[in-house]
Amino acid sequence: AAAPRPDASLAARRATAFGPIADPLFYDEPVEVAEARGVWITDPAGRAYLDAYNNVPCVGHAHPRVNAAIARQSRRINTHTRYLHPAAIELAERLTATCPPELDTVLLVNSGSEANDLAWRMATAVTGRRGGLCTAFAYHGITEATAALSPEGWLDGRGPGHVETWEAPDAYRGRHLDATAFAAALARLRERGLEPAAAILDGVVTSDGIADLDPGYVRELVRLTRRAGGLWIADEVQSGHARTGETLWAFDRFGIVPDFVTLGKPMGNGHPVAAVITRRDIVAELKGRTTLFSTFGGNPVSAAAALAVLDVIADERVLDRVRRTGRALRAALTEVAAAHPEIGHVRGIGLACGVELVADPVTREPDGPRAGRVRDRMRHLGVLIGTTGRHGNVLKIRPPLALDDSHVPILAGALDAALSQTR
Ligand code: PMP
Repeated sequence: AAAPRPDASLAARRATAFGPIADPLFYDEPVEVAEARGVWITDPAGRAYLDAYNNVPCVGHAHPRVNAAIARQSRRINTHTRYLHPAAIELAERLTATCPPELDTVLLVNSGSEANDLAWRMATAVTGRRGGLCTAFAYHGITEATAALSPEGWLDGRGPGHVETWEAPDAYRGRHLDATAFAAALARLRERGLEPAAAILDGVVTSDGIADLDPGYVRELVRLTRRAGGLWIADEVQSGHARTGETLWAFDRFGIVPDFVTLGKPMGNGHPVAAVITRRDIVAELKGRTTLFSTFGGNPVSAAAALAVLDVIADERVLDRVRRTGRALRAALTEVAAAHPEIGHVRGIGLACGVELVADPVTREPDGPRAGRVRDRMRHLGVLIGTTGRHGNVLKIRPPLALDDSHVPILAGALDAALSQTR
């Protein structure tokens, strides 16, 4: 491999060092990041960008309480969970206290992928089955088991034989609004001689294009899954930690009690920590068959970060702010849409917001290339967003939950300008 030239750009060095399967950088002109605070990211030249994309720093970039908790704990001790230390135990207790009583056991790991992988492993072990169900453009992780449940990444659009997919509801086109698509996927699985071990759902269906799911719809899916003997995995990596502005976890809003709740991304506000919350009887089934240990999972520093995030969400009344800001944001985006017919649909819940761009408001044909140009134009205007959905035509607005009313006009103004400045 070519050695990096000392004068090569950071992007060129990245390409050399990380190789050809590294995920592409965001934006036509990548943003080099130097510092961040709250909802603002600064580049090395000191230019500030409004971050309307990152859900990991959920209570805001560099939140002082989370930083202080990490620093304090790392000065004392950091080690794995085979020594007695209160932080991870307190974290587990705090998490189960946010859940229905059935969900009484917590397994701490390091990433959303690991959490889903573990949930899947438990589901197959406990049910003795191997069929899986996920939405048609889902993303649930990078491990072999979770990549199988992630059609977003299936290269030829075809997945492994043990997984069936269903189309997520499309409120804009009035399609797949009830459980018919799910029931059909379940039937296809069984026709192939596979019984479901579990179905998995992201509570705001981020990669399928973002949706404000109807609780009755989700309840029906859970009912069908259980009737077929399968378990339910509520993937809260995106929808958890107050993202919806309604409940700490999206599953609570749906009125369901999942068999597994998986947490990741926002859990440590940037510090890697993740979890599976499940039932004691499920974990007990595995006793004697395997032990679960993760070197970094539940280490005192990660646990301190996760505890600080829960404290901030409670003390700063983050749910209230998200609910308020989310409404204001969708109202402002709807106003922008009134002047731009290429915006077909504004949707979402809390601070998970999707703006769908179409080539023609009558045919509602998705316009992915235009969405890419709008996203890139906004970057030049100083506002960072992303794109999502099968056609890449949904502007993905999923900011740190520190976003407040004062930022809404900046975001909406940049979208308005970017739409006017692109074709
Ligand atoms: N589930 C969902 C819904 C996700 O969005 C992601 C990450 N984008 C994951 C799981 C995987 O998490 P991680 O990247 O931490 O492994």
